[in-house]
Amino acid sequence: MDISVVIPIFNEEESLPELMAWIQRVMENNHFSYEVIMVDDGSKDNSWQVVHSLLQKNYNIKGIKFRRNYGKSAALFCGFDVVQGDVVITMDADLQDSPDEIPELYRMITKDGYDLVSGWKKKRHDPVLTKNLPSKLYNWTVRRMTGIQLHDMNCGLKAYRKNVVKSIEVYGEMHRYIPVLAKWAGYNKIGEKVVVHSERKYGITKFGFERFIRGPLDLLSVMFISRFVKRPMHFFGILGLLMIIIGIAAAVWLGVEKIIQLKNGIVGNLLTQSPYFFVALTAMIIGAQFFLAGFLGDLVSRSSAERNKYQIDETTFN
Ligand code: UDP
Ligand code: MG
Repeated sequence: MDISVVIPIFNEEESLPELMAWIQRVMENNHFSYEVIMVDDGSKDNSWQVVHSLLQKNYNIKGIKFRRNYGKSAALFCGFDVVQGDVVITMDADLQDSPDEIPELYRMITKDGYDLVSGWKKKRHDPVLTKNLPSKLYNWTVRRMTGIQLHDMNCGLKAYRKNVVKSIEVYGEMHRYIPVLAKWAGYNKIGEKVVVHSERKYGITKFGFERFIRGPLDLLSVMFISRFVKRPMHFFGILGLLMIIIGIAAAVWLGVEKIIQLKNGIVGNLLTQSPYFFVALTAMIIGAQFFLAGFLGDLVSRSSAERNKYQIDETTFN
């Protein structure tokens, strides 16, 4: 099978028939063999009934319905689990992403050899103040922190080689960082394509202000996990060591100062009145805590079921 399209759906009943007809048209015009996986993420409207009625007309649709709303990442994860196509496309259900981009995305994966191609909503049709500006700032930060040169990390329209989606685990709200997860899994050829973006035709956006808090927190944890998951001690140990060195230096200085004072016959302040005393005290306590966190982290990662999960590209035997 050439293409699997995965569509997460949360209260998008009005858009679905139009979207499906459009996808079908594109697929047939380009003679692709395909499947569309519609994941209903616990919609409260009639989205699931609409999926059912579409199923009757088109045998290429597979539906998955969650009992409750788990979020876009969960929907993508379950979709990725069942895909069979050589190239996997994800797109939003709200008609903001255009299925006309599919053939070129497919070509970039199969012919140009990309592992992942992300859409870039260069001309974006969303509210400027709440979406476009924060998104620019956010993408700049993510570029600096991850080294992945994408203008639009969180674009819903993306294409993947099948292996990529089978070897990453999208959870929580990590759908924002799929390229980071892919790179971490060893897929380095990540590209982007300018895509047409439209205004939302029906319904409302499903992501409100909470994303300003969750997005950056998730970025921190994705950075931490991708670098230190198998060796927490390397992270905490360095911090701990740094703190202990500062603590010891302050303590040594305290002693040296006292000795100099005694030699010169000066009756100085009490040790506990010196600021260095407090520096030494807090630095050593915090340092010990970092070490403890490192040991605990190591224990946790040792007992993780994933501790010896590596991405093997190829073997010469079966
Ligand atoms: N979505 C989902 N579960 C959620 C929130 C969103 O499956 O909890 C889907 C939604 O139906 C849409 C896509 O994720 O297909 C992107 O959502 P939206 O268009 O609201 O995001 P925006 O374009 O405003 O960033
Ligand atoms: Mg949208």
